Amino acid sequence: MRILLAEDDRIIADGLVRTLRKSGYAVDHVATGSDADTALMGQQFDLLILDLGLPKLSGIEVLKRLRARKSPLPVLILTAQDAVEERVRGLDAGADDYLTKPFALPELEARVRALTRRGTGNSTRVDFGPLLYDQVDRVARLNGQVVDLSARELGLLEILLLRAGRLVGKEQLVDHLCGWGEEVSTNAIEVYVHRLRKKLEPGGVKITTVRGLGYCLEKPDGGH
Ligand code: CA
Repeated sequence: MRILLAEDDRIIADGLVRTLRKSGYAVDHVATGSDADTALMGQQFDLLILDLGLPKLSGIEVLKRLRARKSPLPVLILTAQDAVEERVRGLDAGADDYLTKPFALPELEARVRALTRRGTGNSTRVDFGPLLYDQVDRVARLNGQVVDLSARELGLLEILLLRAGRLVGKEQLVDHLCGWGEEVSTNAIEVYVHRLRKKLEPGGVKITTVRGLGYCLEKPDGGH
């Protein structure tokens, strides 16, 4: 799951980035509306957290442009507590949900979970042979047992599951697992895959290495 955070308040932004990354999301942060607009045009995200009071280009304008491009990207807007009118304009412009500042971080996380679930369609559970993954609770069960996974391993598993049976390139994994300014090398990816594999293979879930290219989560029951 990759989130774009557009927020010009440094303290709020730092807190959000830290919290969301700790939960295993890849977060990219921009501090102006024009940077948000550029990022949204050039890259794929699963959620946009958008402060409406942004410099250079207002959050409302960013949102209007996004929807004018027919993007279905879920958008959570952040507004000042007394800015009722602004909130209404945001929802009218196509925001999915809003939070007023100041907010508690667990509340933000709950909204993020709900919105990213909406973005992935109606099913919240991925049934993959012996592996059952709950996208809302972010819990993986292997043959009924909860698998203890780090945030990175969880992020990795999500990506592989979404593209199960297909080759996922290393660069693609790097791209999804890290936000800007957060260095994760392809070597580190190898380590995460190795750890994940060790946890999943005893339960019959295989991650194949396609040398020099990437990885593939094998369909259960030997599907070719
Ligand atoms: Ca602001």
